[in-house]
Amino acid sequence: MSISEKVKSVIRDVPDFPKPGILFKDITPVLANTSLVHEIVQELVKDFKSGGYDAIIGIESRGFIFGSLLAYELEIPFIPVRKAGKLPFHTISESYNLEYGKATIEIHQDALKPGSRVLIHDDLLATGGTAAAAARLVHKLGAETAAFSFLINLSFLKGDNILFDEFGVKPNYLI
Ligand code: 5GP
Repeated sequence: MSISEKVKSVIRDVPDFPKPGILFKDITPVLANTSLVHEIVQELVKDFKSGGYDAIIGIESRGFIFGSLLAYELEIPFIPVRKAGKLPFHTISESYNLEYGKATIEIHQDALKPGSRVLIHDDLLATGGTAAAAARLVHKLGAETAAFSFLINLSFLKGDNILFDEFGVKPNYLI
């Protein structure tokens, strides 16, 4: 079985979470499978080993999990992007639209050196709104979004096209 097939078979689809009509992709069974976690990290690292990245951004909260494992493997800094009000030091923020309402994410204002090449990681790409807001934070700090990495792409929502159109970077994903 390929790594994508394995991941697909282990992810749990939860209907009507967090609200009616949403089919939520639950990655917790993946996290409980130690050999699969190891394989995923090795697979993700393959794509990024030769990329010359200076830092990995993980998006709160599920983006922290494989984001930190990737940063550890690549031996580059891990930078958290968090929901508004969670980071303790001076921050810059970016708001984006959700299906209903707005969300705001933040990064520490000294988190990235200008000109650095950044890899943005999250567990899942849906509409692309969250990852696009994270990339705008990267750019506000004078750094460059050199890659996007996801475990899951909900391809019917075309978030990959949205990220490519805005940032000129084709997102990587496992499934
Ligand atoms: P987007 O901004 O691309 O529409 O939504 C992506 C964000 O929502 C990610 O931070 C992701 O963690 C979360 N998300 C949305 N739907 C799901 C889902 O079905 N499963 C998981 N694990 N995360 C989701």
